Amino acid sequence: MSGRNEFLGGQNTSGLKHREELIPQGQVPGGLPATNTSMAKSLVPERRLMLPLPSRGLVYPEGSALCDCKELEITGMKTPQLNIMSNTSFIKNGEMLNRLVQSALTNREVKVEQMLLADRFVLFTALRISEYGTSYRVGLTCPSCGTKRPEVVDLGTFIDEMKFLELAPLVPHSNVFGFKLPSSGLETKFRYLTGADEKELYLNQRSKQRHGIVDEQNVTDTLMKVIVELAGYDSKGTINQIIQELPASDTKALLKYMADHEPGVKMRTPFTCYGCDFTGKVGVPVEASFIAPDSNDSE
Ligand SMILES: [Zn+2]
Repeated sequence: MSGRNEFLGGQNTSGLKHREELIPQGQVPGGLPATNTSMAKSLVPERRLMLPLPSRGLVYPEGSALCDCKELEITGMKTPQLNIMSNTSFIKNGEMLNRLVQSALTNREVKVEQMLLADRFVLFTALRISEYGTSYRVGLTCPSCGTKRPEVVDLGTFIDEMKFLELAPLVPHSNVFGFKLPSSGLETKFRYLTGADEKELYLNQRSKQRHGIVDEQNVTDTLMKVIVELAGYDSKGTINQIIQELPASDTKALLKYMADHEPGVKMRTPFTCYGCDFTGKVGVPVEASFIAPDSNDSE
């Protein structure tokens, strides 16, 4: 069937312009390997996959390897990736995803920490699919009554329905966008989070937990990361002060606007609850079984 891609489990990926190549690497004229490394590479043909970036590279500064980068190539999952996934220190310090995707990129100039989470997630999901297929067994939770039940979702569908960046950055090649808060009328400039931001938020959270601090600053922490200018002020201290005074409706409107326009893979699936009368779409969480499906799969 045309459009199916064996690398991505052979299903539901017709919308993508990815390609699979079997590349015998490290071969020198005459067919003899040049080094031990290239000998190993010549023995095992490398699987590669080109994936589109939801940002189309439009948010990255000139001079960055990601600037105007519309697609990136990754290899399939190999032993180095398994090592990263089993390294508990990477999991503890929030570094696992960055390391995992970085190790699979064929372009060494690209720094994953600088990538939008949306771009990184596409590569991460493709990596997962390349190893374990598109079928993902996960616990879905009813947003109405909290009933949880296992479900098998098709990750290929999410990749096919990937949304590309539709907002124009305020300045070309920048991750800065504009929004007018509806209640206060204040102008904001915001940005979408990167791998580096996520790591910082994660480490802040961990540090607070270690010190026994009950965190009521989650929304503030996130807003402080995404808002780069508020009512014309760009100093962190002033932005923080204004954030504390903003009506909740403004905060919600900003976060909703960002979510509605965020590029990337939307992990949402239809759900009919057995515990109540809820029918609608629910979020699909990324659980441990996303990258280790064998760990809780009894089938
Ligand atoms: Zn329910």
